[in-house]
Amino acid sequence: MNSLASSPRAKPSGSSSAPEPDRTLTNALRLLWRAVRLRCPNCGKSRVAKSWGTVHTRCATCHFRFERSSDSYFTGAMFFNLIIAEFLFAVIMGTTLVLSWPDVNWDALTYGAALGMLVTPIALYPVSKVVYLSIDVFMRPVRPEECDPSNTNWTWLGV
Ligand SMILES: [Zn+2]
Repeated sequence: MNSLASSPRAKPSGSSSAPEPDRTLTNALRLLWRAVRLRCPNCGKSRVAKSWGTVHTRCATCHFRFERSSDSYFTGAMFFNLIIAEFLFAVIMGTTLVLSWPDVNWDALTYGAALGMLVTPIALYPVSKVVYLSIDVFMRPVRPEECDPSNTNWTWLGV
């Protein structure tokens, strides 16, 4: 049985099974670096955030539209905001416990943890939006139509 040889997606014999160019670790690290710097995931030059919690409509350099579907596009960023905040909380709490054991200041840890859980999601809100956008760009690479300022037809995104 040689069903792969007749498949339209089969690679010619002798070619290596290299990963797709936009799903490489290098691309993931580049997108992460741009997200940490709050830069456009497409070009890495202009800032995504307009002010605290608001996002530019398009990149000033490459004109990539940041809200890739509807007005509620960044709702998914709240999920990443919670994930990032909880991860940081666990790391800081665990590190504090290990470093101060057995003389743990439980009162400071209790109040510090509560304060951290309130402040961290607010502080990381812009980062979570850019992380969400970068993961979306990693999963669904930017199409040339998304960088066309005159294009207002978003039905091609399938959402
Ligand atoms: Zn850009």
